[in-house]
Amino acid sequence: MRIAEQLGPETPTSPFPLKLAGPVAHGFKRGSKELGIPTANLPECTAQQASATIDTGIYYGWASVGSDEQIYPMVMSYGWNPYYKNTIRTAEVHIIHDFKHDFYNEQLRVIVAGFIRPELNYSSLDDLIADIKLDIECAELSLQRPEYQKLKLDTSLKPE
Ligand code: ADP
Ligand code: MG
Repeated sequence: MRIAEQLGPETPTSPFPLKLAGPVAHGFKRGSKELGIPTANLPECTAQQASATIDTGIYYGWASVGSDEQIYPMVMSYGWNPYYKNTIRTAEVHIIHDFKHDFYNEQLRVIVAGFIRPELNYSSLDDLIADIKLDIECAELSLQRPEYQKLKLDTSLKPE
């Protein structure tokens, strides 16, 4: 039910598509990998650029990494960074693909195509994981639409 409500507009609508890129930075290793949902962090400066355009929340779009030509669906969490006393934001990208290796320092290219939901606080880990699974389903469904498929052709996703 939530998914049907949250597919959003048929066409990416301003400020989307939003293009972000930078070498994958280290995060706080707060166990997202153990939960099966590793998030590749965009560098701080890239995350700050986005703050002019988007609010905190969960977003969906496309991503590519390093010299890999493949373009994958992704969900991105854009949130306050506790390490900096919540004065700056982090952009953390979970690519919907099972990678065999880490890719720290490789170039991560992202096109943010739409908004899924605001950030929420969870009292239980199970609730958090259940919601992330819904976010992933929502992203996959949203991205099947023709106007969102077209974004995969954008040159910003191509390796240098
Ligand atoms: P960190 O706190 O350093 O971000 P994570 O536990 O969130 O640690 O793991 C993120 C790292 O896992 C990424 O930087 C990347 O190298 C690797 N990784 C492997 N698979 C994925 C994936 N599907 N999506 C995002 N990152 C992935
Ligand atoms: Mg992470």
